[in-house]
Amino acid sequence: MKSTCTKCQQTCLKKCLKKCKKKSLKDYTKVTITVPQPQGVKNVPATMYFYIHKSFTVKQKQRIKDGISDVLIFWANHYVEKWAGGTNTGTSQLALCTNRYATKKLKPVWSKSSVPNAIVATNVAMNQITQLIRDNGFKKSPPATIDPQSLTTIYAPTASTKRRVPLSLRINPKQLDSAALGDLDLTGSMLHAWLHRAGWTDPKITSYFISECPMCVMRFYKPKNPNVRDSSYYKFFD
Ligand SMILES: [Zn+2]
Repeated sequence: MKSTCTKCQQTCLKKCLKKCKKKSLKDYTKVTITVPQPQGVKNVPATMYFYIHKSFTVKQKQRIKDGISDVLIFWANHYVEKWAGGTNTGTSQLALCTNRYATKKLKPVWSKSSVPNAIVATNVAMNQITQLIRDNGFKKSPPATIDPQSLTTIYAPTASTKRRVPLSLRINPKQLDSAALGDLDLTGSMLHAWLHRAGWTDPKITSYFISECPMCVMRFYKPKNPNVRDSSYYKFFD
């Protein structure tokens, strides 16, 4: 059976699609992000790679890079605290904070075993983010592209599988320019999107893991302040 790729008109569809895919990355700037190396985690790549669409400004690109790096800092800190000087039995501040508030949808879509509480859920989530980092850094997953979008802050669909999931996102450039989106808001929004890529689902409201875990990051692990509404944080989620 002969089929023709509509993009480059080559008869070998597979080859053509490969070519077209590579070609289309020309619209993106490749950026390299240094990955911290926390104790207790093996086989962590030195760098991650993202392809940011050229329509983003230099300043917007920098904010995206900072947002990714900050998620990696929180990810690494989870392991450092869990490592607890060598016992690897510690409970991270992220897990403790999340456990105070998250009671619903603790389980990712791919998980067959039960997740009894949010401490376990946080450990599972950080381990799955480790997998996403490995697949990205060792180039096992397709290139992670970052495209502009005008709705919401950051969008990523929920991934249903554990392996070779690209960390592709859509980000609102206007919000990156806005002071209303603080650095920790951006980090939390980015983490929420990554948790979708790790297999967790919405709703992005109070009590749900995919919301409470990033909100702990946005509050820098602090308890909730009764005078601040959760919606002032999760309005940055999609
Ligand atoms: Zn969401």
